[in-house]
Amino acid sequence: QQDLATFDPEIAKCLDAELGRQRDTLEMIASENFVPPSVLTAQGSVLTNKYAEGYPGRRYYGGCEHVDVVEELAISRAKSVFKAEYVNVQPHSGAQANAAVLHALAKPGDTLLGLSLAHGGHLTHGMHLNFSGKNYHATAYGVEKETSLLDMDRVRETALEHRPTVLIAGWSAYPRHIDFAAFRAIADEIGAVLWVDMAHFAGLVAADLHPSPIPFADVVSTTVHKTLGGPRSGMILSGSTEHAKALNSAVFPGQQGGPLMHVIAAKAVAMKMAATEEFKQRQERTLEGAKIIADRLNQADVAAAGVKVLTGGTDVHLVLVDLRDSKLDGQMAEDLLHEVGITVNRNAVPFDPRPPRVTSGLRIGTPALATRGFGAQEFTEVADIIAQALINGQGADLGQLQNRVKKLTEDFPLYPQIGNLV
Ligand code: PLP
Repeated sequence: QQDLATFDPEIAKCLDAELGRQRDTLEMIASENFVPPSVLTAQGSVLTNKYAEGYPGRRYYGGCEHVDVVEELAISRAKSVFKAEYVNVQPHSGAQANAAVLHALAKPGDTLLGLSLAHGGHLTHGMHLNFSGKNYHATAYGVEKETSLLDMDRVRETALEHRPTVLIAGWSAYPRHIDFAAFRAIADEIGAVLWVDMAHFAGLVAADLHPSPIPFADVVSTTVHKTLGGPRSGMILSGSTEHAKALNSAVFPGQQGGPLMHVIAAKAVAMKMAATEEFKQRQERTLEGAKIIADRLNQADVAAAGVKVLTGGTDVHLVLVDLRDSKLDGQMAEDLLHEVGITVNRNAVPFDPRPPRVTSGLRIGTPALATRGFGAQEFTEVADIIAQALINGQGADLGQLQNRVKKLTEDFPLYPQIGNLV
């Protein structure tokens, strides 16, 4: 059997090129991270060959004795990390986990209430082109125009108006903690089920650096590949077993067929990693880095260029930059940082006057660089590189900024153990 480089050099070259890109640039997309070699090994293993429809001990296929152990380990480790009573590790992705949650908690046509996509919510929380918007009656709450923050009295008013079956808390772009107790109280008042999607901040929760939604929510969903730093995939958790049967049945056979056992093995590895002191320190550096970036972008020279930090700072792993008064729009700023060697994504700010493909904001995240080993000193340097680019816009000294990025990438080599294929 030929190896990849011999059999398919076109794909092998793409893999090499992507490894090079990850090594030579600074990854600051808030939802991305670098998995360790142990996760790559599990995910690239022979477990990809195995069908295992069903759950451990109750499969519809023979030969599941080893994958059963893998899935049990993933579940018990996730329960321990998140202090949960129920975990399902089978969702292929965050969106699939969310589809299963809604499948279990609501009937088609029922009302959902979640954070508006335009204010930082996620597609699966009711966007009109998504299954959540097509199959359910989706309504939304938003942040306040003055502060860009959630006002829980206003969320309550919106909930009393719409009386959703499922109240959704969680976000893809919101830089502050959310008040899970207040969401719980609203859900109780209107008789709704509370679902928290902690996809973004799950790594911080695992490290006890962010309030946990588990004690408050009926159901919690997450991705495993953002702050958690594991394989691209999803999980569903709960502090009780009340919805266990409905959730398991919603994942399989409700939404999925055979689970990706190689990915579940990688999830188990990621959960072992999440219980370590090293993981906690990494999450601390993630938070520290985001604060350093927010502080730098709050300084007078940046403000003078019309660049602001949304909500004035951050409690989490990302900073939202408001470019409404800047010469740059979101697309221009993303392109400029790309040229410098920093990868971020443009992001609509609440009440954004520009269309979603342009936007007036940036979302800058620190998880991947913290995983790469960055601490306060390196984040201070990154923050200044970003500040110089945003201050000077098209007039920035690109060569000088590129050299500063290059120095950081060389000082923190990524995947030194992995060689090129071709
Ligand atoms: N939920 C939230 C809050 C997210 O931000 C995302 C991804 O961006 C998802 C769910 C979906 O995850 P996936 O891309 O794995 O489907």
